[in-house]
Amino acid sequence: MSPRPISVLGITGSIGTTAVGILRRYPDRFAVVAMSCGTKVDLIAPLVREFHPELVAVKDGDAASALRDLLSGMDRIPDIVTGPEGQIACATVPAVETVLNGLVGGMGLPATAAALAAGKTVALANKESLIVGGQLLLDIAQSGGGQLIPVDSEHSAIFQCLQGPGAGKQIRRLLLTASGGPMRSWPIERIANATIAEALNHPTWQMGPKITIDSATLMNKGLEIIEATLLFDVPVEQVEVVVHPQSIIHSLVEFTDGSVLAQLGYPSMELPIQYALTYPERLPSSVRPLDLADLAQLTFEAPDYTRFPCLRLATEAASRGGFAPAVMNGANEGAVARFLAGSIPFGAIAELIEAAMSEASTESPRSIDELIAANEQAMTMRV
Ligand code: MG
Repeated sequence: MSPRPISVLGITGSIGTTAVGILRRYPDRFAVVAMSCGTKVDLIAPLVREFHPELVAVKDGDAASALRDLLSGMDRIPDIVTGPEGQIACATVPAVETVLNGLVGGMGLPATAAALAAGKTVALANKESLIVGGQLLLDIAQSGGGQLIPVDSEHSAIFQCLQGPGAGKQIRRLLLTASGGPMRSWPIERIANATIAEALNHPTWQMGPKITIDSATLMNKGLEIIEATLLFDVPVEQVEVVVHPQSIIHSLVEFTDGSVLAQLGYPSMELPIQYALTYPERLPSSVRPLDLADLAQLTFEAPDYTRFPCLRLATEAASRGGFAPAVMNGANEGAVARFLAGSIPFGAIAELIEAAMSEASTESPRSIDELIAANEQAMTMRV
């Protein structure tokens, strides 16, 4: 089998770093044709020397010249491109079959859209691409011949449960599991004033800072509700959230006959990333075998929409459709950045999102560009 040519966007981030471990384990399976990062050129330089991509994208000219310096003496220095156009170039290299999008936030959407339009398979960790792009992104995939494979662990679980003829047409309910985050059992007053360190202290998953804050507000689960409606073509009423603090069951599908399938494993992003990169094949991973007797018990509870209003806001955005999910996403990104900078309290995140959503246009978006603009505008909106 010839190696699968891939592009890794955000290779120095949390998803990218886990992906690198997989690429190292299976050097004959993959050829890394392109890679990108923001400004962490000291981290990408050794990866360029190791994987020999044709094309590398970094944030700007300063990062590009710093990277060129770090690569001096290399036999064949790859082309180095910059800016959003650079990410798009990495996503659309003709030789590339699969693009792993590990970028963070709505800024990942243009690359996802370009890759799908070019007929690529996109292993999508950047869920904000779907939240902002919505149905229009799926339309682009359809007309361009591209395919989305979820990397988000819950959606990977559902995707795995849906393998088999006709399975996707027989869904009664999708059950998304949520760890509940670090404030699962806290009273509402304590949540409102949670510190940055408390919000970053996720009980089960090791992830980047933006998604970790989203997991504390439960906005991450809210985004995942919308992501599930789009990926699996089900209405929001058929997507339910169940809190499962151990994060062993990654999600479940209930079929029309009442049968329920689940996918289980210890929480590790390695498995969903690897499955997305090798699909439909399965290869050994470093995830340790599941020991149910050792776990002894798995517990479940209903989510609390009052203490975690982001869950309610995301459900509303999914029902409203149009610009609402893009505005919600942008407002959330802006609010999370401000919280991480220490300029707003934790409780203000949901308030800012709700205020932004109340001003979202009720018209139908006509293009991805309109949605990207709405996302960006909501990011910087001050209420
Ligand atoms: Mg997830």
